[in-house]
Amino acid sequence: MVDELKVDMEECGVCEDCIDVCLEEAIERKAYTIIIDESKCNNCGECVDVCPVGALYED
Ligand code: SF4
Ligand code: SF4
Repeated sequence: MVDELKVDMEECGVCEDCIDVCLEEAIERKAYTIIIDESKCNNCGECVDVCPVGALYED
């Protein structure tokens, strides 16, 4: 389980792996930005584990 998530867009390569793994559809891509909808996120932490560059972090 994780706390509120942020995306480090300096590290993110917009590969969309986190979008694919999120069962809650809480992650969205807008152009070259990844946005997490906290109201949908259940804090499972799957996206943190799958990100190849460690761009998702707990705030
Ligand atoms: S923590 Fe889980 S529910 Fe929340 S954005 Fe990541 S994969 Fe989706
Ligand atoms: S998995 Fe990581 S690098 Fe890929 S889009 Fe998500 S935050 Fe960015």
